[in-house]
Amino acid sequence: MTVITNHMPTAELQALDAAHHMHPFTANAELAAKGARVITGAKGVYLTDSEGERILDGMAGLWCVNIGYGRDELAEVAVRQMRELPYYNTFFQTTHVPAIALSAKLAELAPGDLNHVFYASGGSEANDTNIRLVRTYWAEKGKPSKKIIISRKNAYHGSTVGSASLGGMAGMHAQGGLPIPGIHHIDQPNWWAEGGDMTPEEFGLERARQLEQAILDLGEDNVAAFIAEPVQGAGGVIVAPDSYWPEIQRICDKYEILLIADEVICGFGRTGNWFGSQTMNIRPDIMTIAKGLSSGYQPIGGSIVRDEVAEVIGRTEFNHGYTYSAHPVAAAVALKNLEIIEEEDLIGHVQKVAAPYLKQKWEALTDHPLVGEARIVGMMASIALTPDKEARAPFATEPGTVGYICRERCFANNLIMRHVGDRMIIAPPLVISPEEVDVLIDRARIALDETLDELK
Ligand code: PLP
Repeated sequence: MTVITNHMPTAELQALDAAHHMHPFTANAELAAKGARVITGAKGVYLTDSEGERILDGMAGLWCVNIGYGRDELAEVAVRQMRELPYYNTFFQTTHVPAIALSAKLAELAPGDLNHVFYASGGSEANDTNIRLVRTYWAEKGKPSKKIIISRKNAYHGSTVGSASLGGMAGMHAQGGLPIPGIHHIDQPNWWAEGGDMTPEEFGLERARQLEQAILDLGEDNVAAFIAEPVQGAGGVIVAPDSYWPEIQRICDKYEILLIADEVICGFGRTGNWFGSQTMNIRPDIMTIAKGLSSGYQPIGGSIVRDEVAEVIGRTEFNHGYTYSAHPVAAAVALKNLEIIEEEDLIGHVQKVAAPYLKQKWEALTDHPLVGEARIVGMMASIALTPDKEARAPFATEPGTVGYICRERCFANNLIMRHVGDRMIIAPPLVISPEEVDVLIDRARIALDETLDELK
């Protein structure tokens, strides 16, 4: 058998990859024709590829490598835990120290009385858990008709059948017969694209009040929960106008609708606080967590629920769980990751150093002819590309065409920046230094210039 290593020629690795590996969210035939870039290592905010190029990772992987790459401490914890107890479950009246310690830590970090954690291997599984959690909660409270979950168009909550149904991505719903019944989508608070002549504040209220209207239309007795990301990530780093979240909170309180904050991206420092709910000043009943929980070093996610929700669920046997719920190696690595965030005061670094510096540089990109609005919360940011800033106009081309060109130009200039339609987005590791922010911005500007050239 051929031993496949980092030292093989890139073309051979690419050919083998194309022959046997199906990439997620990828047109695989198109990729096979040009060959995937082979990533061989990473340190800090930089990736290295098989040609020896250093790529600045403006997306922290998939918004997850919050503490940066190459942290030996996490590797050591993983090895130790694998030797001591590589696997055991917590299904049948057993538990283990990594699960106990991580849960206690999360209860300490999470706001209010969010004190109980149900684990999954990632965000999609955790959101699937949430569907069953909220329905079981209401059934136990004698209101079994409260089943519908309200979500938002262009939200991303994962890729399993349940979580993709919660999400509001038209392209995902178009494949595989989604959404499943019992999920209702209202419009997103994307002022730049959909605000028309309204001020952002008027628009924020209008979009929040769609929740109230949906509850009234569907019947208060049929609605279980509202789920939303504090800042929509994969939808294009859409930051709601200031008027939006207070109104959403008021409506959830008034109609006794559980509020699920999907913190998969926003959690663990990304928005400048431990959780995006704190940044947006909301009081969720359930928070979905993953990604930054382990900085991506191990696959782990979960749902953190309030005391009362846990108490109600605890009255019955909740027939739900995954083989890898509270996996000891993943839990031990996640705990160490949280300790690093605390010990190195990475939240303080984001608040005082990285985010203010990035904000100043990022917002200055609006001086570029292609850039309309620039939005940033903590260490997640977006720019809208447009042919006409005043009119907030879209390009005449198919949505995403210009964004794709820009992403390709970034990639060619050794910067990972993603596009969502014609919005460009970043979410770099939280440890990024001002000097590295300069490199990111320099490369982004070059890519924007090259995109503009290509459009001429
Ligand atoms: N929720 C949000 C807000 C996400 O951004 C993601 C992934 O990007 C998920 C859920 C799904 O998480 P996972 O890919 O770990 O299943």
